[in-house]
Amino acid sequence: MGAPDLLQGLRRAGIALSVLPSGDLAVQPASKLSQDQRAAIKSHKAAIVQALQHPDEASQKEAFEERAAIIEHDGEMSREHAERMAAEIHGEPLDPDRHCWPQTEAMNTREIDRFTGRVDSFVMCGVNPVKAERLAYSLVTRDREGDDRRMCLECSGLDSKGRCTSARRGRIEGVIGLLEPVTHILHRCEGFEER
Ligand code: SF4
Repeated sequence: MGAPDLLQGLRRAGIALSVLPSGDLAVQPASKLSQDQRAAIKSHKAAIVQALQHPDEASQKEAFEERAAIIEHDGEMSREHAERMAAEIHGEPLDPDRHCWPQTEAMNTREIDRFTGRVDSFVMCGVNPVKAERLAYSLVTRDREGDDRRMCLECSGLDSKGRCTSARRGRIEGVIGLLEPVTHILHRCEGFEER
């Protein structure tokens, strides 16, 4: 079941969902939720947020999925072929991210671009490539969870010798001179600037 179906089922049950400014979901009335509904909302959270924020996109995606499923079943075709035909009927190019996050755990195009950019950047900071990939992968999960903590490795204040230039220039309140950067530990720092 996709996010639009889930939302429709909840609406029929008299339960409304909305997205808070923090990106979390608000449920009204939460007391009406069954255990199964609670679990379904939790596992589809990202797709639900997207469906609530972009309802037209979500219903188009739903129509596409439905048409592809009909073609696949009635035409006894492979899913891939059915999706290509559905895309032709819709007059739209096939979405390369249709089987990626937030529909599945696979990284979407944007996440892959960020992942490779981070790996390159971490390697340039002296991290070995294997560790750089592991760190960049952990940041994919961090971003999906909406965690606002960052690593010094992502900060433009970190120099090529692993020192915090922002602290040396007195840009971090209460810190004068040296500050030992926590290169690969997630934390919050007022001096952080995206690299
Ligand atoms: S400004 Fe903060 S986040 Fe950036 S390198 Fe220095 S200590 Fe790390």
